[in-house]
Amino acid sequence: MPMHPQPALTRPHFAVLLLAIVMAACGEDSPGPQDVLLPFGTLQGQVVTSAETNFADVTARVVWGSQNLTAAVQSDGSFDVEIIDAVSGFGMLTIEPGPNEPIHPGWVLLSPGDVGANPGTVVLAPKMWTVDSGDYAGVEVPIDPQLAADGRVMPSFWGFYFPFSQNGFLQTVTDNSEWAAEFRGWPPNAFPIPVALDRLGSDGDISAADSIAFWGHVEVMEAALGWDAFAPAPLEDVRILGGARRPADAIIVQLDSSVAVRGVGVINRADVRTYGLSADATTWSGTNVRNISVVSADITYGIIRLETSGLFSDRQLVIHELMHVLGAGHGCSWASVQTYCASLLSDVPTAPDVAHLAVMMEMRALELEHDSRWGILASVFGHRVVTLGLTPVPGIDLTYGPVSAPADWHRSGGGR
Ligand SMILES: [Zn+2]
Repeated sequence: MPMHPQPALTRPHFAVLLLAIVMAACGEDSPGPQDVLLPFGTLQGQVVTSAETNFADVTARVVWGSQNLTAAVQSDGSFDVEIIDAVSGFGMLTIEPGPNEPIHPGWVLLSPGDVGANPGTVVLAPKMWTVDSGDYAGVEVPIDPQLAADGRVMPSFWGFYFPFSQNGFLQTVTDNSEWAAEFRGWPPNAFPIPVALDRLGSDGDISAADSIAFWGHVEVMEAALGWDAFAPAPLEDVRILGGARRPADAIIVQLDSSVAVRGVGVINRADVRTYGLSADATTWSGTNVRNISVVSADITYGIIRLETSGLFSDRQLVIHELMHVLGAGHGCSWASVQTYCASLLSDVPTAPDVAHLAVMMEMRALELEHDSRWGILASVFGHRVVTLGLTPVPGIDLTYGPVSAPADWHRSGGGR
């Protein structure tokens, strides 16, 4: 990219500098050596990532109007980009790692209030994830924020979706000017999550054989994940709230013949923790998406409902629903236990499933630790814009989804 010519700068010794003192002397054709140019303000930020890097080859770039300004990201991940001229409207911050850096780029929408404000934290996704335990120990998996966010079925693996209606297995987008995500996960101290078979809340018998089959699937799933996600709990040890039979800090599994399509995984609705984004996104999103809402929220309970007891023997179904209650959406981009497009089906979590779930959990933890509003979206946008040359926000056709899925396919709900 062409560089905006930068005058020699003297760094201010204080972080917040909103008004520029441009030149000490007036009436000269050009600044003399005694004159000092001060920036309009400083955009301060901090890059954090789960990848191992000291940011040796990472550039922070601000493009704002005709200004195109860069600064090196320091070894601790911090950066200060000095903004020369006054800004209005919106600008763009990109975090641009060199080719050997193990992180994806970042892309952040800026508003004038970001200049001179407290440093914002940008959470970036690793390019690769190495599974450290379990069946896939040692496997290196490429992480693809674009595919994880823009799955061809909704919600995507990382919880992104357009409002849609569902008829059988056909998903039809009802409003392509809205783009939303629920970025969900259990608090780190929730594991292993207590799981109880809810015989009291079921409308059919859960047999001992059903229980054995269920826990066999859990064992296979945990071997794939490489960690202990679940722990069997007696039903009487699980706190159940109210008439809706909602467990607290636990998962219950029910037989429910009213479930129309085999199985459903339900989690609590997201309490709102919305990312700060411009309300009118049409000016920068690159598509007709106008409103973007992304909430990041803890999961506090999960309910799995199976239509018939025979489904306890369906390993893919049981594990699929358990993945939903861990916060994963659907997939159609890699072989997956979460596939929802009648292809790429796996009965167990695949290495990409395991890696993208782990990265999602780590990015959520980093977002919360740093109270970051430039979290998962910065990575998704960065991968789309900087690496792939796409618009920040995906567009979508209004009809979407697996038109010819098997008749016995199931559907799942994500907290609604
Ligand atoms: Zn599902």
